Amino acid sequence: MSSFGYDQLLECVNALGPPFETGSIGQSAEGRLIPFVRTGEGRPVLLIVGGFHAREHITVPLVLGLIRPFPFGTVFFVPCLNADGLELCQNGLSSVSSPARRKFLRAVNGGSEDFSLWKANADAVDLNLNFPSGFGKGRGNLFAPAPQGYVGPCPLSEPESLALAAFTAAVRAEAVLTFHSKGEVIFWRYGQKGGRLRRDRALARRLGKVSGYALAESPESHGGYKDWCVEVLNIPAFTVEVGAESWPHPLDHSLLPKILPQCRAMPGEVLDFLRKENGRKRKMDAGGPA
Ligand SMILES: [Zn+2]
Repeated sequence: MSSFGYDQLLECVNALGPPFETGSIGQSAEGRLIPFVRTGEGRPVLLIVGGFHAREHITVPLVLGLIRPFPFGTVFFVPCLNADGLELCQNGLSSVSSPARRKFLRAVNGGSEDFSLWKANADAVDLNLNFPSGFGKGRGNLFAPAPQGYVGPCPLSEPESLALAAFTAAVRAEAVLTFHSKGEVIFWRYGQKGGRLRRDRALARRLGKVSGYALAESPESHGGYKDWCVEVLNIPAFTVEVGAESWPHPLDHSLLPKILPQCRAMPGEVLDFLRKENGRKRKMDAGGPA
């Protein structure tokens, strides 16, 4: 099993020079910086996030593999939101600094030191259930620390989810792509209606076309980052599940050459869609009643 640790992530990000800018959106529960990479300027603004769930660490090198300059617009990449989870899943408890937290995590993991199927962060909170949109209403939600499924004590209780929410708002993201594994499907819907429903469905269909992934809906899941982007920020947001359903967790990184080509056209497709959408809106504003 190949691996991709936090040090490697930092090495990749720090090796980037112009036209890329780098920084951090905040820190993890264990105090690791959560890096971002930026390219381009002006609208439209797209944000791409990987590494939400610990065992889905293949999405970290995947998002790094999507980094390139684009002909217009701004793209922010956050390759690994769950920096502690990335380490915990691949390197176990030796990656955890405090003895108290090691004890806590071992207990939550049923006494086992095998964290290879762990999804949560270092507080045993599932980051993709920690957002204030239908918080705690999802099917299978848990209300105590767990390897997966625990929503947290309150929305945005975790430093990682709070940092991502603040960053998404601060950069005025106009669309969001988040990468998870697995199933080769794209989740895009969270109660949109009217024009937003038509817009988001149209963009989802284009993403499905360029990736070969099917569109899917999950009406019983709530509290996700995508859900929050759609419901609160009113922007199109997509949970892209990479990798065939038949491949076991965690996906081996030798599968990247199969996955990367499926995802490569997605960012450009979103930027192109948003640019046309923004142009259409400008025309409507100019031509509307006085
Ligand atoms: Zn996931």
